Amino acid sequence: MTELKKRVLVIEDEESVARFLISSLEANQYLTRWETSGNAGAQAAIEFRPQIVILDLGLPDMDGHAVLLKLREWLKAPILILTAREGDDDKVRALDQGADDYLTKPFSVAELLARIRVGLRHSESGVTGLHYRKRGIDCDVAGHTVKVDGNLVHLTATEYDILKVLIKSAGKVVTHRALLKEIWGPNSVEHTQYLRVYVGQLRKKLKSKIHPEELIQTEPGVGYRLAEE
Ligand code: CA
Repeated sequence: MTELKKRVLVIEDEESVARFLISSLEANQYLTRWETSGNAGAQAAIEFRPQIVILDLGLPDMDGHAVLLKLREWLKAPILILTAREGDDDKVRALDQGADDYLTKPFSVAELLARIRVGLRHSESGVTGLHYRKRGIDCDVAGHTVKVDGNLVHLTATEYDILKVLIKSAGKVVTHRALLKEIWGPNSVEHTQYLRVYVGQLRKKLKSKIHPEELIQTEPGVGYRLAEE
C-alpha cells in the first residue's frame, strides 16, 4: 500500500537529525526521501513530488532561504523549516518567504508529527472549514458568530478579522507581519503594538471556563498560533 503513504522530503545535512526524522516518519507510515544539500533537495522535489518538505536552514552548499525561495517558485506543498538557530529573525524571514511553519532543534517526535498533520490538513483542504470548534470556542466564520462555553460573545470588527485570519491558519504560526498586513495593510507591518492590544482583548473575550488553556498561543518574537487540538 506504498502508494497511499504521504511523501515527505527531508533536506538536512546533519546525519543524526536526519536519521531521527526518517525513523520517526517511517514508523508513522510516511514515505521519506533524504537529501543532504540544497541542490540535491531541489532536484529531488521535482522527481519525488513530496506532499510535505522538511528543510534545514543551515545547509552546506546553499543558504536555506535560497532553497526555500527556489522551491516556492513552483512547489505548493507545505514547507516546514528546521532551525537550530536561536534568532527569531531567521524563522520570521523564512515564514514571510513562504515557509508554512518551523521546528526548533531539538524537537520531539510528537511536535514533528503534529506540525506535519497540520501542514497536510491545510494543503488538502485548501482553506480550513468555516467552523472552528476547540477548547470551548465555537466560531462560525460564515455566520459571523462566536460562542464561548455556549454563550454568544460580541467581537469588534477588528477582533473578528484577527480571529478569522488565525482560524484560517489554525495550528500554524502566523507571523506578526502577515497578520498586520492582512488586517491593516502593507504600510502597517511594523506596528506590532496594535496586535498586542487586540490579541489581549481577544484572549479576554475568548476565555473559556471549561477549557482555561490558552487558545491564542504566543510564539515569542515570531507571531501567534491558534490551538488546533
Ligand atoms: Ca544543518
